[in-house]
Order: sequence, then structure tokens, then C-alpha cells
Amino acid sequence: MTAETQTLVRPMVSVEGVDKWFGQNQVLFDIDLQIAEGETVCLIGPSGSGKSTLLRCINHLEEINTGRIRVGDDLIGYREKRGRLHELKEHEACHQRVRVGMVFQQFNLFPHMTALENIAFAPIKILRVPKAEAISRARTLLERVGLAAKADFYPSQLSGGQQQRVAIARAVAMRPTVLLFDEPTSALDPELVGEVLEVMKDLVRTANMTIVVVTHEMGFAREVADRVVFMADGRLVEQGEPAQVLDSPQNARTREFLSAVI
Ligand code: ADP
Ligand code: MG
Repeated sequence: MTAETQTLVRPMVSVEGVDKWFGQNQVLFDIDLQIAEGETVCLIGPSGSGKSTLLRCINHLEEINTGRIRVGDDLIGYREKRGRLHELKEHEACHQRVRVGMVFQQFNLFPHMTALENIAFAPIKILRVPKAEAISRARTLLERVGLAAKADFYPSQLSGGQQQRVAIARAVAMRPTVLLFDEPTSALDPELVGEVLEVMKDLVRTANMTIVVVTHEMGFAREVADRVVFMADGRLVEQGEPAQVLDSPQNARTREFLSAVI
């Protein structure tokens, strides 16, 4: 998608003027980021630059201090009623969070549930999908991530790469409009990274989702991203098409980072 077409459609994710502080420490500075429906954005940058915090703010796992974040029609953290904004309590934020899926570095599967149960659980409990239907959908998703034979295995019986593929299937099962990945392959042994990236590439190609991936896998970013965004010290420093940012970075900070990781 080109920059011109992006400005014509209302963004699916809109981050405007966002500041985030942890105590006395400001970690996000005036972040502005618009992501179009169906766009795939790779967010790169050094450790500690605020990438995870930004994803967590979009998913309302963290409160922001200044600015606003919209996902679709939702103003994250607020309900609009008769022209007024009401701050949501934690338990009220659930319906907003359902539309934004997240896959973490450490998989975070439920250890006492099988792969199939991990995937079917939230659709049954939160979306009230009938049990038989949720299980049938979970089987289809397991097949899609290449794990049909592992339906009844517990996380401890699966490799890291298999666990992460279950975690991706679990996120997709909620049919989110936006899917966030926070360094999904960083905790994996190198030989398991490829199988997870393949599943993600398949999702990008076939699912009609807006996807944001924090990653250090530059080959992946180059192949799948519509846009690469480089972040450093809590600020968006540079962004553009993958080839532009990765091959001819304009900012010295971006050049320094890329020469260290590639
Ligand atoms: P990245 O994901 O780019 O490595 P993070 O978003 O995790 O960066 O962290 C950005 C900054 O915020 C870092 O200085 C980190 O120490 C700080 N930080 C992150 N989470 C917390 C927290 N829960 N409490 C206090 N400081 C935090
Ligand atoms: Mg992080």
C-alpha cells in the first residue's frame, strides 16, 4: 500500500501524541503512528527503545499519560457516551482488548491445557462460541500452523517453536482486527525460528488483519512488511518501505542500529 492510499482511508490503528511515563522515567515521547487496515508494519529498534511499551499501550495493557490511541472505532481506555468520554475500568476494557490480539516472546500458553484447549478456551469463555464449534475451529487452526497431530499435547511436551505456533493460533482464534507480535522468535533456538516465521508469513498473506511485528529478523521485515518503523529512545526516528529504511536509512541512529544487527 502506498503512502497516498494510506491517507485516503481511515487508519485501523491511530496513535496520536502519545507520551508514556514509568514513574519519573519517560519512555515514549510524542508518538504519532497511523496504520491502515490490512497493513503489515515491522517495528525495529534497540533494546529499551519502547517498542514493547508501545504495543502494550495499543493493547491497553499499559495506560498512556498523554495523547490518544484508536483501534477501529474504539478510543482505547475510554467509552464515548452522549458526546462525553468515560474512562474504562480494567474489567470494562475487555471488549476493546478482544479486537487486538497479542503474541508474546515467551508464548504464555496455559500450562495445564492442551494445545487444542489453549486455542478453544477464550472463544468459548469470552466470545461465547458454542463448544463444538470452537473446538472444530481450533482444529482447523492447528492444521493451519502445521500442528494437527499435537492437538492433545500439553505445552511442556512441545518445542518452543511449536508452542509459539499454538500461541499464534490462539490469538487468531479470537478473530482480532489487529494482531500484535512482540519479538515472537527471540526466545527460540535458532533452528526453530524459521517455522514460526513461515506461519507468520502465511498469516500476513492470507488473513485479512492489520499486523504489527516487533522483530530483529530483518529478512522477515524486508519480505513481509509494507512499512518498517525504526524506534530509538522512545521516539519514532524513521519509517518507510522496507528497502528504503533497511538499505538507505536517512538517520544516523538507524544506520548505527542496522550495522549492528545485519
Ligand atoms: P523495548 O521493547 O524496545 O526493548 P521496552 O518498551 O520494554 O523497550 O522498555 C522501554 C523502557 O521502559 C526501558 O527503559 C524499560 O526499562 C522501561 N520499562 C518497561 N516496562 C517498565 C515497567 N513496567 N516499569 C518501569 N519501567 C519499564
Ligand atoms: Mg521489548
